[in-house]
Amino acid sequence: MKQITESLYQISLGAANVFLLTGDDGLTLVDTGLPGSADKLFAAVRKGGKRPEDITRIVLTHWHPDHAGSAADLQQRLGARVVAHAADADILEQGGGERPRYLTPGLVNRLVFRFFINGVSSQIPPISIDERVADNALIATAGGLRVLHTPGHSAGHMALLLEQEGVLIAGDICANVFGLAYSTVYEDITLGQQSLLKVAAKPFDQAVFGHGGPVIRNASQKLREKFEQPLDVAGKLLQTV
Ligand SMILES: [Zn+2]
Ligand SMILES: [Zn+2]
Repeated sequence: MKQITESLYQISLGAANVFLLTGDDGLTLVDTGLPGSADKLFAAVRKGGKRPEDITRIVLTHWHPDHAGSAADLQQRLGARVVAHAADADILEQGGGERPRYLTPGLVNRLVFRFFINGVSSQIPPISIDERVADNALIATAGGLRVLHTPGHSAGHMALLLEQEGVLIAGDICANVFGLAYSTVYEDITLGQQSLLKVAAKPFDQAVFGHGGPVIRNASQKLREKFEQPLDVAGKLLQTV
């Protein structure tokens, strides 16, 4: 576990990062990794000096298997309450599915898609969602975790703003693997850009991502600068994948 701020820890599970928040009400886990990640996650949490049994809440940024894949297993083992945005809740409860998705142009995206996304099943063990939240909801932990509905990558994607500490948990609104960049796939990249700019207008100094390392200073400004340029792919027919 890598400590980002007083309350926030990042855990890399290989395919994606997940996050642990320490609050008065116990631990909150944001995302869960691919199916079969629970033991690896528990080991990382223990190594970081925390108890997996203290996880009382699981918040899912969106339904993709690299984020929601182990949620059902963890829910069963921990009895934790699962929170997701209403627009992704049905697909999570159905155990995944197919939604139209488009590949973001560029060589890196073609390679990432070919080696890391293509062939990963879009099915996940079904999860029963205990709480369906909407934009601007406040999850009561660690001084308040603000829900920012950020459709585009997924219709029910949510980013989370840890207001007290000025940190954005960005999920997959973009990635930071080889510097800040659009994610490899979107259901609607134009909507994705609007969501990025909506988020970048909020005040936060640091940002963490589902894929890649954190941005540790001036993060909202960096997002604004990176994504405010007109989307050159807008209007072009993106490749369906
Ligand atoms: Zn995703
Ligand atoms: Zn992802």
